[in-house]
Amino acid sequence: MDKDLKPATWLAHAGGAGDDATGGVVPAIHMATTFERDADYALHASGNVYLRPHNKSVAQVEKVLAQLEGAAETLVFPSGMAAIAAAFRWVPNGGRVIVQNGIYWGTSKWIRAFCARRDITLVELDASDAAALRGACATAADLVFVETPSNPWLKLVDIAQAATLAHGAGALLVVDNTAGTPILSQPLGLGADIVMHSATKSLNGHSDVLGGVLSTRALTPAWEAIREDRADAGAVMGPFEAWLLLRGLRTLALRVQRASANAQTIAEHLEDHAGVEAVLYPGLPGAPGHAIAARQMQGGFGSLLSILVKGGEKDALRVAGRLKLFLRATSLGGVESLVEHRFTVESHTGLPQNLLRLSVGVEDVSDLIADLDQALGQ
Ligand SMILES: *Cc1c(COP(=O)(O)O)cnc(C)c1O
Repeated sequence: MDKDLKPATWLAHAGGAGDDATGGVVPAIHMATTFERDADYALHASGNVYLRPHNKSVAQVEKVLAQLEGAAETLVFPSGMAAIAAAFRWVPNGGRVIVQNGIYWGTSKWIRAFCARRDITLVELDASDAAALRGACATAADLVFVETPSNPWLKLVDIAQAATLAHGAGALLVVDNTAGTPILSQPLGLGADIVMHSATKSLNGHSDVLGGVLSTRALTPAWEAIREDRADAGAVMGPFEAWLLLRGLRTLALRVQRASANAQTIAEHLEDHAGVEAVLYPGLPGAPGHAIAARQMQGGFGSLLSILVKGGEKDALRVAGRLKLFLRATSLGGVESLVEHRFTVESHTGLPQNLLRLSVGVEDVSDLIADLDQALGQ
């Protein structure tokens, strides 16, 4: 579709991906695993051979995601973790990687095991601390990985600055933009080399698809290796998931705008709440990452926020237990609001025992605030 149109417009039209064969205004699902050759044994005109590398439903959603990220190319994966693993597997044995700490725990856990197995030097640091990142980038590296805003601390990394530092070390910068979303945050435009998403979260937005995304600014040798490894090792998304993801993306702009506005209102409401010790949300003017967020995010600060409940673990669990609209479940970025006591899930990583992570959905914000108020005992 016309590149001058705004994302909300061409997303609503699924980037123009209708069904040419029937005139359907939504695309068909293409489930075939294999494709017929003609009598001379030439390939079908589509060039398709086999589902692992060739699927139209997958290609359709990748095209929309590439346009959304301003990417040279996008690849989808069967989960966010499969996308992260693909972003790391090209790093040579004995290499060196720099990874932000205090991020999605599943990412830290997998990267530690991977680096140990492959004899890769792993430097973990607080990448929101520019001096620490500059120090680590004084030594050559292969890859720098950051997550911004981070989950569940909501720390902000200055992407443009991180790109300059990573490139100075000879490294690629990979940004996990799951909480930022491509609507609010455009890491490739700020100099990042690869942007990653758990499509399970806001991109799909309905808590019914597991998926991951990598998008690249340029077709580098590392990217070529990632693409080849996906086809050969087989970490591909299935056609039905790809179709559902494209369906979810049609309302992405609308959902992200509403959920971010709701999160901002909730953060401001809870900031002065008697039952709350602190609110971690980059949209609050007093938040440590606010200046960076205001510079590199447009139209909102995302649907993820964390609160420190006044008291300890028991108090936080009591509040979580009393919530009626916020469902007690992990994950984020869905249309329904969720609450998670992260300490129960990752007690060994140094998280505060009174931290509750809220994934704010698209419900009416007055209902969400009333639910939080009754749960906090106000
Ligand atoms: C959920 C999540 C992941 C992992 O994605 P899956 O789709 O669950 O494999 C990675 N990073 C962030 C920030 C996440 O929230």
